[in-house]
Amino acid sequence: MKKLRQAIMDQGKGIGSEIVKVDMFLNHRLDSALIFDMGIELAKYFRKDKPTVVLTVEASGIAVALAAAHFLNDIPVVFAKKSTASNQSGDMLTAVAHSFTHGNDNCLRVDRQYLPKGSRVLIVDDFLANGQAVEALMSIAEQAGCDVIGVGIAVEKGFQEGGKRLRERGVNLKSLAVVTQISDGKISLAEED
Ligand code: 5GP
Repeated sequence: MKKLRQAIMDQGKGIGSEIVKVDMFLNHRLDSALIFDMGIELAKYFRKDKPTVVLTVEASGIAVALAAAHFLNDIPVVFAKKSTASNQSGDMLTAVAHSFTHGNDNCLRVDRQYLPKGSRVLIVDDFLANGQAVEALMSIAEQAGCDVIGVGIAVEKGFQEGGKRLRERGVNLKSLAVVTQISDGKISLAEED
């Protein structure tokens, strides 16, 4: 997606050889126009697969997920929570994801009532690195008896394993931009597909 690639080149920063910092438009400050455009792109790609719910994880996945859901005829968004709260009850579906950026394990939780059996789930997240977050969301959808129709990602880091693992599993994966390398703070991107 040209606009996203441009934003990464203009406003993104490479940290070390593995981290992409895009706080300016995606992870701290949100560029609402760009995020709605991402939603349009994801909706265009996945519309034919007729998703009935978008599943993401708090916090940074929510904005892109909401934009995609809006352009998919305003289907609901469910976001997995990373912490327990005293007002959480009900039948919680859980899966553990190791956080690439924080280095800890997160137990992702979704109340079963929000993922009715048979739902057609589109998983959306801001980044794909080693695939832990997406695989945990896939596990939660499967525990709920739902079909995962695809995975939509804003920024895939192509030099990490997640994309390869999902494609090998036959997952319908759409990444709006793919980072191929980070070197001396400089981010390289794959050509548009
Ligand atoms: P994975 O589970 O695929 O290893 O990592 C994806 C998750 O880690 C995403 O939900 C995202 O929040 C975070 N993440 C991984 N790599 C990066 C990165 O380079 N930059 C940012 N901002 N977040 C990342």
